[in-house]
Amino acid sequence: MKRSAADFYYSGNSLLNKYSQIDSRPFLKMVKSWGATLAGAGDVREGLAYEFKYIPVAISLAIAHPPIGESILRKDSVIAYTNQFPAIDMSLEHIQKRIASYLRSFGWKAFIIPPDTDKVDYSFAAKLYPLFPHKTAATCAGLGWVGKNGLLITKEYGARLSWGTVLTDAPLKVAGNPYTESGCNSCNRCVDACPAGAIKGELWSRGDPNRPLLDIEKCAGQLEYHSKVIGKSICAHCIVACPIGNRNNIYLSKLKVSYLKGGDGKGEAKT
Ligand code: SF4
Ligand code: SF4
Repeated sequence: MKRSAADFYYSGNSLLNKYSQIDSRPFLKMVKSWGATLAGAGDVREGLAYEFKYIPVAISLAIAHPPIGESILRKDSVIAYTNQFPAIDMSLEHIQKRIASYLRSFGWKAFIIPPDTDKVDYSFAAKLYPLFPHKTAATCAGLGWVGKNGLLITKEYGARLSWGTVLTDAPLKVAGNPYTESGCNSCNRCVDACPAGAIKGELWSRGDPNRPLLDIEKCAGQLEYHSKVIGKSICAHCIVACPIGNRNNIYLSKLKVSYLKGGDGKGEAKT
């Protein structure tokens, strides 16, 4: 009889029983060949709501956003960065479906958490999505940490990616290097860049998941203001300001946005 990852986890056998685990490297390579920019597998037992306990491995995947210079909207005094990319979300969903079919073809369970969990969906499954954030999957898979701006920060692309998750009971070998602490250190660029003063400057830690990083009301107020001026509820100065993995500074310097320039070189985040 086939045994699931949950059997290994909960029957008292060690997760580190190498013989029980599928080498995840070729699997993740295959996921990238389907179009994911980043992919990883993480043990998410600690971050799972009760409803998901039977599928303790998260496959976290992301697709990078286009260059920042192609995503700037400006009108009057408002400059905003588009971080909503429906075409990327569709590609992520397509890859997620392929992953789920692949795993199910071997008899494993697979549960898709779609990229845009805010979308209107009244299905029972959609009600479960908020119980499992993509941040949990990505940090457990060792792909990034939660920055002071409350977003996933990866060494390669900063916060400029869209994320999806597939939960499974396939005993994939999980990342041995999950992120449990912030890599932001004393960097404060997003804090300084936020026009609403909404970012508190706190460091994320897995051990203190309820530590508030953002003043959500201030952020929402800024988005509302932008919506009135430029017709879109977007802002994302906190994404553009992040120096991590920033290969697009050529675009930023052209925009002459003051917080994007220079810095004193002190107190920067780890890269
Ligand atoms: S989206 Fe804008 S207002 Fe909200 S936290 Fe980021 S920079 Fe601040
Ligand atoms: S700008 Fe600095 S503090 Fe903010 S998320 Fe990026 S690295 Fe962290």
